[in-house]
Amino acid sequence: MTVSKRIREMEESITLKAAAKAKALKAEGRDIISLTVGEPDFPTPVHIREAAISSIKNGSASFYTVASGLPALKTAISSHFETFYGYSLEPNQIVAGTGAKFILYAFFMAVLDPADEVLIPTPYWVSYADQVKLAEGVPVFVESTESNAFKVTVDQLEAARTDKTKVILLNSPSNPTGMIYSRDELEGIGNWAVEHGILILADDIYGRLVYNGNTFTPISSISEAIRQQTIVVNGVSKAYSMTGWRVGYATGNPEIISSMAKMVSQTTSNLTTAAQYAAIEALEGAQDSVEEMRQAFEERLNTIYPLLSEVPGFKALKPQGAFYLFPDVSEAMAMKGFTNVTEFTDAILEETGVALVTGDGFGAPHNVRLSYASGLDTLKEAVHRLKAFMEMD
Ligand code: PMP
Ligand code: GLU
Repeated sequence: MTVSKRIREMEESITLKAAAKAKALKAEGRDIISLTVGEPDFPTPVHIREAAISSIKNGSASFYTVASGLPALKTAISSHFETFYGYSLEPNQIVAGTGAKFILYAFFMAVLDPADEVLIPTPYWVSYADQVKLAEGVPVFVESTESNAFKVTVDQLEAARTDKTKVILLNSPSNPTGMIYSRDELEGIGNWAVEHGILILADDIYGRLVYNGNTFTPISSISEAIRQQTIVVNGVSKAYSMTGWRVGYATGNPEIISSMAKMVSQTTSNLTTAAQYAAIEALEGAQDSVEEMRQAFEERLNTIYPLLSEVPGFKALKPQGAFYLFPDVSEAMAMKGFTNVTEFTDAILEETGVALVTGDGFGAPHNVRLSYASGLDTLKEAVHRLKAFMEMD
């Protein structure tokens, strides 16, 4: 075997795998509705695309930039933080990179020594655990349940804490559950982390996608002590519909940030220069399209959630943010004679043409994930097919 143990032990991203499978079946001519990958279905707003085009035309996009990102991008990120987080940042507190996904990996590489533990509340986004393992850390899963709205408590975290615990990862609003931690809950977790010297990794990427009067509190905005302990990861993929541009960034402690920048400099070099110009315009330009897209997601959620609740055996909490529904399908599986959620998801695809993501990769063996970042008619048709499938003998 010539392939490394490291890669052999790594899982392929199941979200991307499910999306690729749906695309391949579609290309074969099958009638497939893909609710797999989490990406907005809107084109990137025109003024953002224009900014990148100008940077290409005037030649400024031709060259490398400083590995951690253009000074103008850091200024834009800092003013964005002033508006949405209530504090500003120095340039040495910011590193930009090729998507929030790579930035997360750079973080784990920068802070973990072998055997260091990262507390990851379940259900969790698919890439966290494998990235921690790649950095020779140990993911420690802390189970949340639907009865606690898929949120972990300080008591649970304390029970999981050891002298190897280095990081607590928080993703609120959450992919895949859509749940948001309240200010009080975050304050409790933040103070606990400060007390024990545990770093907080706050993946805030869905922070601007919240619905029906729910609000997002960034944990780093709660107190100076908590902010000192937190690295925030964010990006433009979700809020600005810019998944293809691959722009992510992290902010916080300068020593950790410069270590992440070292990782960037030795792996990807700077984030693609034209994409940096696009991100500057996204963060500094008109924000109307963010609100328009948010409203579209809200309408979809409010339309599709009650319809999904009518599908026999599908039981979902109503999400507060992000763009996923994450129903518990234990009853549906029992009705159809399945015990394994991946096999059940495959059967749904085979029988109905609706592509979902199995909960297995999220640490949730009783759930499936539907992304509602698709048009309303498509979503209605998908749920209609699921209902017909479940009602069929
Ligand atoms: N964190 C979470 C929770 C996500 O869902 C995603 C989506 N891919 C990312 C990070 C990474 O986003 P990107 O790499 O597109 O910036
Ligand atoms: N975060 C998105 C998702 O969960 C994009 C795919 C990925 O990066 O895994 O579907």
